[in-house]
Amino acid sequence: MSAIAARVASLGTENAFRIGEDIAKAKQRGVDVIRLTLGEPDFDTAPHITEAARASLARGDTHYVDPQGILPFRKAAAAHIARTRGIEVSPDDVVALPGAKPAIAYSFLAYVNPGDEVVYPSPGFPIYESWVTFLGAKPVPLVLREEKAFAFEPAELEALLTPRTKLLILCSPSNPTGGVLSPQVLEGVARVIERKAGPDLRIFSDEIYEDLTYDGFRHASIASLPGMRERTVIATGLSKSFAMTGWRMGYAVLPNAAEARLFKQLNINYVSCVAPFVQEAAREALESPKSAGAVAAMREEFRRRRDVVVPALNEIPGVRCNLPLGAFYVFPNVEGVCRSLGVHAFHASLPKDRRAATSPATLFQRFLLYYHGVAVVDRRSFGVLGSEGQDFVRLSIAADLPTLKKGLERFAKAASDADGFRRFTGDAEALGV
Ligand code: PLP
Repeated sequence: MSAIAARVASLGTENAFRIGEDIAKAKQRGVDVIRLTLGEPDFDTAPHITEAARASLARGDTHYVDPQGILPFRKAAAAHIARTRGIEVSPDDVVALPGAKPAIAYSFLAYVNPGDEVVYPSPGFPIYESWVTFLGAKPVPLVLREEKAFAFEPAELEALLTPRTKLLILCSPSNPTGGVLSPQVLEGVARVIERKAGPDLRIFSDEIYEDLTYDGFRHASIASLPGMRERTVIATGLSKSFAMTGWRMGYAVLPNAAEARLFKQLNINYVSCVAPFVQEAAREALESPKSAGAVAAMREEFRRRRDVVVPALNEIPGVRCNLPLGAFYVFPNVEGVCRSLGVHAFHASLPKDRRAATSPATLFQRFLLYYHGVAVVDRRSFGVLGSEGQDFVRLSIAADLPTLKKGLERFAKAASDADGFRRFTGDAEALGV
C-alpha cells in the first residue's frame, strides 16, 4: 500500500520548469547563471490587452461563466482561425482553456484508450510523451532529424501508422527545434492519412507558435487541407503570440460541436471555466487592430536575435545549428563538442542504470550549467524515446541580446574546457545521476 496512486509514477514533466532546481543549486555554489531555458517571450503583454482585462474587472466580470468560454471570445477565436486557416469554424467548435496545454490532456482523455497507439514528434513538447505513458497508451515517436530541418517525410509517418493509431500529434512551428512543417509536407501527411488511417484517428495540431515565423514562411495548418478539418483538433492560444504566458489563456478548435461539448465537460470537471476578464483580454488581443504591430515587433526582435545566435553557435568548433523558421528556440547539435570533451566516453563508462538515466547531451547541459553558468535544456527533456544518439540542446532566445551574447561566450568556453569536464565527472551533485 502507498498513499500515492500507482499511475502517478508514469506521469512525466516539463524539464524547462524543473531545471529551476538545478539553477538554484548552481547559484548556491556561487555560479552566476545565464538562463536560456525559458519558453516564454521576454516581453510584456501589450497595454491595449491588459486594459481590456482591467475594464472587464471594473465591470464586475468576476463570476463563473460558460465553461466552454464566453461567446465574444469564442466568436473572436472562431473568426481568427477561419480567416488564418481558410476553413469554416463556428463558435460552437471552440473551447476556451487555461492555456494551450490543457488541450493536450483533454485530447488524450477524449480520444485515447490504454493500449491505443499515439504518434508524436520526438524531439517534441515533453507533455505529449508524458500523457502517452500516463494513460498507458503505446508511444510511437516520429523521430525528427536535423538533416530534414526537423521536419519528416510523409513516408516515415506512413510506416508508423497502424489500425490502432488513435492520435497523431503535429507541432509546427516546433518546440524545441524551431522547425516548421511546409504546406508540401502537410499535403503529404494528409494523403498518408487518407490512405492509411482509420476514420477514428484524430490529429492534434499544436499551433501555439503560429505567429512566430521568419524569412517569409507563413504558418500552415493541416486543418486547412481537404478532409482534415473533420479530424483535427487545433490547439493554440495567446501565451506566445501575445506574450501572455501568465494569463493562462488558450483554446482548442474541435472537429465538430459534439466533440467541443466533450472538451467543455472536461473543463467542467477540471477548472469550471477560464476567468472572464482573461477571456476579455484574449478577445481584445485577437480583434484589436493594435495587436498586429505588437506581434510584428516581437517577431522582428526574435528574428534579429536568431540571426546573431545561430551564426555564433556555428563558429564554435563541434557545434552545428540550423536556422529555425519558427518559434523562439535554437537547437544546436553538440555531438562534436561531446566527442572532443570526452562526454560520450564518460557516458559509456557509467554503470548501466546511471547511463540509462542520462545522456551525453544531458551531461553537457549540466556541465554548462554547473561549470560555465549557462542554463539550457537537453534533448532528452523533449522525449526520451527516440533521443538515443541525438546530441542536442535547446537554447531559448527569449532573452535580450547582451545576455544571449554573454551566454554564447560561456558556451564557447565550455566547448573547449576538457579539464573542466574531467573535474565535472567527479562531482556527484553536478552530474545528477
Ligand atoms: N505547446 C507547445 C509546443 C509549447 O511549447 C507550449 C509552451 O511552452 C504549450 C503548448 C503550452 O502553452 P500554454 O502556456 O499556453 O499552456
